[in-house]
Amino acid sequence: MGRFDLVSLGELLIDFTPVGVSGNGNPVFERNPGGGPANLACAAQKLGARTAFLGKVGDDPFGRALKAFLESQGVCTEGLRLSRAYQTTLAFVHLDETGDRSFSFYRKNGADTMLRFDEMDLSLLDGCPYFFCSSVLMSEGDSRETSFRAMKAAREKGAAVYFDPNLRLNLWGSPALARENILRALPLADLVKVSEEEAVFLTGEPDPRRAAQALLREYRFQALLLTLGADGCCCFFPGGVTVEQPAARVHAVDTTAAGDAFNGGFLARLLRLGKPLAACSRAELEGLVRYANAVGGLTTTRKGSICALPSAQEVEALLAQG
Ligand code: ADP
Repeated sequence: MGRFDLVSLGELLIDFTPVGVSGNGNPVFERNPGGGPANLACAAQKLGARTAFLGKVGDDPFGRALKAFLESQGVCTEGLRLSRAYQTTLAFVHLDETGDRSFSFYRKNGADTMLRFDEMDLSLLDGCPYFFCSSVLMSEGDSRETSFRAMKAAREKGAAVYFDPNLRLNLWGSPALARENILRALPLADLVKVSEEEAVFLTGEPDPRRAAQALLREYRFQALLLTLGADGCCCFFPGGVTVEQPAARVHAVDTTAAGDAFNGGFLARLLRLGKPLAACSRAELEGLVRYANAVGGLTTTRKGSICALPSAQEVEALLAQG
């Protein structure tokens, strides 16, 4: 058995979220750790998985704080590089009068986009069953080719590759470039999670379930997980098994990181089952999906991303309610 159950590659950045107005009348922003693959590593770690993170931040106060934060969550940071040449990527969240969010990214030559393949500590993947990545690192810089090479290297080492496109169109030069690179990643992935918008974007098919079916016909996935926000998810497994489930019944206040939490819950539970998906019974697959829905759902009941992730006890308590 290797040191880790899950190695997650991706962006680790600061999300500055608005928290009100100072005494001088100026907006105040809170410094939050952010980045989907980091959220996912923290979610899985909190639910019992042994996780490591691969990525790059600046050797600046923000980057050093992010490293310390991941360590405080129990995620291994041996594979996190601190760069003297590039600064930590920042994102500012803006809320309009109706509460709708938009992001401004400060990512020109951002450290996360500058991870070279020769900087990766691939030994962390020895004996590791799952490797995770998303398309955010593929949007620019050295990290694009590093991501593709890492997916191949992880597979060569025997890990199953879990890919979430996590499409952020404003990070890409054009939608066509985003689509081209995500479609390049899909043949290198074993488990894939897509949102409704992503399934439609990738296939051009307006119905998300039909879009998922089109992806399944085109690629050889072990699982395709289509998440449907407040409507739960529809998951496609080996042998033509489809599991469709409503979302957990919760009072959602902030859906940030719901997808990352869903992924983390799915993987943590799958690891606990201790067998490949193809060997799972229908009841086990249903339990897996219910668990992932509960983790995603609970994350929406609190504000923030990593701070909003549920504990194993909270998930079990929600599931016990039926
Ligand atoms: P993403 O964040 O990747 O766009 P979704 O919005 O589809 O993903 O959400 C992922 C999962 O989180 C859903 O499948 C569901 O389990 C849970 N979830 C999201 N929004 C809600 C909600 N309003 N109520 C309950 N669960 C939710």
